[in-house]
Amino acid sequence: MEGFVDVSRILSGSLEGEHVKIRGWLHNKRSSGGIHFLLIRDGTGIIQCTMKKDKADPDEFELVKRLTQESTLELEGIVRRDPRAPDGYEIAVERVKVVHMAEEGFPIAKKYHGPDFLLNNRHLWIRSKKMQTILRIRSKFLEAAREWFRMNEYTEFHAPILITAACEGGSTLFNVKYFDMDAYLTQSWQLYAEAAIASLGKIYTIAPSFRAEKSRTRRHLTEYWHLEVEIPWCDLNCIMKVEEELLTHICHRLAEEMPKELEHFGRSPNDLLKVEPPFERITYDEAVEILRGDGIDFEWGDDLGWIEEKHLTMKYDKPFFITHYPRGVKAFYHKPDPKRPEVTLSVDMMAPEGYGEITGGGQRIDDVNELLERIKEENLDPDDYEWYIDLRRYGSVPHSGFGLGVERTIAWICKLDHIRDAIAFPRLINRVYP
Ligand code: ATP
Ligand code: MN
Repeated sequence: MEGFVDVSRILSGSLEGEHVKIRGWLHNKRSSGGIHFLLIRDGTGIIQCTMKKDKADPDEFELVKRLTQESTLELEGIVRRDPRAPDGYEIAVERVKVVHMAEEGFPIAKKYHGPDFLLNNRHLWIRSKKMQTILRIRSKFLEAAREWFRMNEYTEFHAPILITAACEGGSTLFNVKYFDMDAYLTQSWQLYAEAAIASLGKIYTIAPSFRAEKSRTRRHLTEYWHLEVEIPWCDLNCIMKVEEELLTHICHRLAEEMPKELEHFGRSPNDLLKVEPPFERITYDEAVEILRGDGIDFEWGDDLGWIEEKHLTMKYDKPFFITHYPRGVKAFYHKPDPKRPEVTLSVDMMAPEGYGEITGGGQRIDDVNELLERIKEENLDPDDYEWYIDLRRYGSVPHSGFGLGVERTIAWICKLDHIRDAIAFPRLINRVYP
């Protein structure tokens, strides 16, 4: 099709005064006196189009009067700057052609709908301004991440989704029938990434991870997108530097390229420009001190849960790190601190403002005996991990990595109150449809 322009180009101001053709969906319509105001959405933006009775073809004016929400159309007219239009520009309509007259009764009306209704109608709700804006921020987020990896010469690597041994503990594994065997959906690429660094050096992936989370929370999906990094010759300090540089790059890109979209959620781009390395670092021990100082009853050795993370992160307005978690709360592959073996060389990054953990990672065990000892300690079967143990037999190096929850991070950036809105079709304990 020839001659159609993107709404985003019109809104950028470069076509003022010109005759244009656009096509899209009727987002909304209102009429007053002899004028129809149409909001047209084309996937690049939404623009107001005004059609005046005295300037229009009478049949087309009548047709537009009957147009249902979400009908698709082609339209031509003159671009005008108008401060009263939602985004500063509008089209004075000359011709309209209807491509598809939508059925009456588009389920999403301009009234309050409860969250369940909107989740049941997610296939239509993703057309909303809210979801459209989040999904665009999400796309830019991943683009910025990939850009950082390219600038820093990482290789993208893909690990299998169907696996046989747990990485983050058996309780959240999804079981799948694999012919006449049992297999699971992956919780993380990590074990395979540790194999791949001996081939490719520093690597990353952006892929789905699966966790059969049995509790209903505002920060757990059962299928989420996991941005993971693994680096040879890298210790705890090194991996924290990578995390803070990567997140800073993403935050700055979003602030520079999506300021309006961020403001839509009440997020000032300035908040993201203030994110700068080095991030503050506190130890697990210090976190426990703070909690106790504030009168929260907390036993050393327990994992920081939702309540504790919320409390701690409310004190911050920028992301920060918590390091050196007790070995009891971290998976078997975390390297115990040689100076203090009851804690590990682990690190979680916290998002501020009450959001809590967005990354988990640290230094991995590189000694074969230490690894076997930890596998035994956790009552795991060494036979399940035979190939993984091999990696410590043939060319072991100190190495570290981390995993970042894409939806968790976007929830913080967009100030969302539930993680489900950071993904188009959320999978939750009670939802796999649509
Ligand atoms: P939590 O204790 O909050 O459940 P975790 O310790 O199980 O998290 P990790 O195994 O360290 O998480 O996973 C790395 C990152 O993946 C987390 O920091 C988080 O951002 C993200 N993540 C983990 N589980 C989920 C989930 N169910 N839904 C969305 N993101 C998740
Ligand atoms: Mn978890």
